[in-house]
Amino acid sequence: MDEAAYELVSPPARKADILFVCDHASNRVPEAYGTLGLEEGQFAAHIAYDIGAAQVTRALAAAYGAPAVLAKWSRLLIDLNRGADDPTLVMKLSDGRIIPGNRDADGAEVEKRLELYYRPYHAAIAEEISRLREDGVVPTIISMHSFTPVWKDFKRPWHVGVLWDKDGRLARPLMAALARAGFTVGDNEPYKGELENDCMYVHGTGNGLPHVLIEIRQDLIATPQAATAFARQLKPIIDEALAQMGPPAIRYTRSLPASEGAPPMDEKTRTELEAAAFRRLVAHLRTRTDVQNIDLMNLAGFCRNCLGDWYREAAAEKGIALDKDQAREIVYGMPPAEWKKRYQTEASAEQKAAFERASSSEAVGKK
Ligand SMILES: [Zn+2]
Repeated sequence: MDEAAYELVSPPARKADILFVCDHASNRVPEAYGTLGLEEGQFAAHIAYDIGAAQVTRALAAAYGAPAVLAKWSRLLIDLNRGADDPTLVMKLSDGRIIPGNRDADGAEVEKRLELYYRPYHAAIAEEISRLREDGVVPTIISMHSFTPVWKDFKRPWHVGVLWDKDGRLARPLMAALARAGFTVGDNEPYKGELENDCMYVHGTGNGLPHVLIEIRQDLIATPQAATAFARQLKPIIDEALAQMGPPAIRYTRSLPASEGAPPMDEKTRTELEAAAFRRLVAHLRTRTDVQNIDLMNLAGFCRNCLGDWYREAAAEKGIALDKDQAREIVYGMPPAEWKKRYQTEASAEQKAAFERASSSEAVGKK
């Protein structure tokens, strides 16, 4: 490997619980690949990278005091925003043109690029996420991209596109804030944010972290100066959306992937099985009234109240409003105050001290 697959921007002192990523930051390819048989001029175009996206990412990371992971190599080499088994991972054609250096890329060549350039990039993102999690932070992931003003004679009307899948807690307020600031906003335009195993699917959805992908029209960020100015404009809008989203929490919107050797199952059956396991957990907790919430918290970082809150948050995602007590009653089987009266014992000094220690280092699932 002649160079690292990614560039990590680390702030001297982290000031925000955000991780920026930029999959299509670069139009370079490692020397051994030459120009992949293309003319030099094509590397200045969108087929090679997202014009302006890297500058916007760097400017935002600096403004926030947040880390950023940027790709070092062009998407022409390998597309970091695709699943490892996606047929467009190594593109043989782009905009109808054959890419000579990719045309004959066989399984071994693709595996080599995965190993040298793709996996290290995603490992770097995963590493940053675990670093933040170890700090007790639930990070928000913001992925920066850019799109061409015209595609196949269609003049794209949007200034900014917001791409998202099932988790709209940041995407929705961000679209509203962008619109209020006077931007024409594409809701899952010009692309859809629902590609399975793309970068946000793996690191955002897969970890239950709040996330969003922002696409900026390239004519607005065509020069480094314009990109920096655009980032300056974007920052208060992102601030507004983050404030509206509220404190980030872990929230899963997808079923866990099936494990190796598990029988194939449709989505509905899988959801029913997951619900059955949840119901059994709730039934179990209802019989084990001897187990105190504070002990659950101290041992595992969650308790009955957390389960109720997760239920309420999942309902809110579907537009169903429940208040805290209503949701918690689903877990307790009675109003929480009633359960407390019947079963909650006075916490010992030891339990309280353990709770203090746990809550200063652990943020999993808590508000
Ligand atoms: Zn892109």
